[in-house]
Amino acid sequence: MQPFSRRRFITGACATTVAVAAAACSGDDSGGDEPASASNTPGTPAATLAETTIPVTTLAVPDTDLTADPFTLGVASGDPDSTGVVLWTRLAPDPLNGGGMAASAADVLWEVSADDTFTEIAVSGIATAVADEGHSLHVIATLAAGEWFYRFRVGPYTSAVGRTLVAPPPERSVEEVRFAAASCQKYSNGHYAAHRDIAEQRPDLVVFLGDYIYESAGADGADPADRVHLGPEPTDIVTYRNRYALYKTDPQLQAAHAVCPWLVIWDDHEVDNNYAGDISQDGDDPAAFRARRFAAYKAWWEHQPVRLDPPADASPDGGGEYRIYRGLTWGDLMQVALLDGRQYRDDQACGDLALNLAPACAEAADPERTMLGDTQEAWLLDTLRTSAATWNVVANQVVLADARLNGAVLNYDQWDGYPAARSRLLHALAKSAIDNLVVLTGDIHLAAVAELHDGDPVTGTPVGVEFVTTSISSSGLVGDAFTEVLKSFPELIDAELAHRGYVLHTVTHDQWSAEYRIVADVADPDSAVTTFSTYEVQAGSSRVST
Ligand code: FE
Ligand code: CA
Repeated sequence: MQPFSRRRFITGACATTVAVAAAACSGDDSGGDEPASASNTPGTPAATLAETTIPVTTLAVPDTDLTADPFTLGVASGDPDSTGVVLWTRLAPDPLNGGGMAASAADVLWEVSADDTFTEIAVSGIATAVADEGHSLHVIATLAAGEWFYRFRVGPYTSAVGRTLVAPPPERSVEEVRFAAASCQKYSNGHYAAHRDIAEQRPDLVVFLGDYIYESAGADGADPADRVHLGPEPTDIVTYRNRYALYKTDPQLQAAHAVCPWLVIWDDHEVDNNYAGDISQDGDDPAAFRARRFAAYKAWWEHQPVRLDPPADASPDGGGEYRIYRGLTWGDLMQVALLDGRQYRDDQACGDLALNLAPACAEAADPERTMLGDTQEAWLLDTLRTSAATWNVVANQVVLADARLNGAVLNYDQWDGYPAARSRLLHALAKSAIDNLVVLTGDIHLAAVAELHDGDPVTGTPVGVEFVTTSISSSGLVGDAFTEVLKSFPELIDAELAHRGYVLHTVTHDQWSAEYRIVADVADPDSAVTTFSTYEVQAGSSRVST
């Protein structure tokens, strides 16, 4: 592929001048011979900016020796609280080959404004990008709740403009929040029309549930010819950086990042398929795998707008724990607990068989087995029990609902393979009478809606609902013929296996509405994206209606 197609530059330029309206540009190749000018010409010198009483506007744009645009990976924001938000970019003039920066540090000006023309700068600063962090930047901008626009500048180069939101404080009454839930965006399997649609919808948040990159090398059988995983399977910081950079050069993914703040957690493919703690898919030596995992975790941090320090424990013998589970509140309306279902789990039972119809092996039923680890499990319950918000959301990696077939576990990687941990969690939630629980899940590349129970999946106490989003682009794992089997499971309300897409959630104090958006043709970046179905939950109920 051509990583620096003219189209990408034009899209970037458009995104700069028309804020985050990248969707209006993304399908337009017509200006192919025009110079990629707007985002790459010298920025307006700070001294000529509109008069303002805010002294920070006098900050000068730092000089640079760079001779190519370093803002090739776009901008992003994330983890808003009521005091501010994280603003992200990474300097990478040669993104697919290690980034292309010298070993020295680079100063970058960041600016935030209430409007997308930046006539008045609300707050700005100089941030320093260093080689050990891949020349990434994680600026915590201190701002009041509401909508803001941001950009980065160095020498003659100005980044695309991002729109972000700072969260309403927990005590503030909030009428509505709209957010997208997404997962599984294997670059080689297709294009990101779903991300274009997210950008067009202008949600308040995106919750990304994992499988942001895939670690595999080469192509799958039916992959579009213009979407190839470059390079070998990543195992070290350089190869993981290059893999993230490949994904982040995509203009539709950049548009979705630029439209609103994201809440990002990981699943397995950010490191290695179906890994569990320090146990790899292929049974590598755990110490060697911990070293690889550290590189993957570090590259994840470098490329995500997360309010976290970088992973510090590089010692293969030190365990290398890197805590990413964390929470967010959105006024009095919603609280989100963001989980890590990979790092603390026991290994998959029964040899991690898939689509095996034999009864579950005894190992799976071991009451000591854990999905979240004791510390995270206690944190989750405490977070939910002390919540003052109307809706309590759990951003979760793998399917929580009971999807066993006549006692057979079809996927030992899901909560089905950790039945004691699931029973413990659902029983604790029922006992604590957690209000209005909504679980958001990805991983499985199909869309599903479920009602969760403590105990028996039919007669047990209703605990909450689960909305499983299909993949943004990753190929389906089972055929359409499986749809009716899934719908026959007692906890499953509906399922859709044929399409890629995401879920657009609209939340008020009275009602939760989940609009399932599907992509007509994942091989086409300009594909139509339409609504398959919308599911509703009334506050105070754990039942889904359409
Ligand atoms: Fe996936
Ligand atoms: Ca996964």
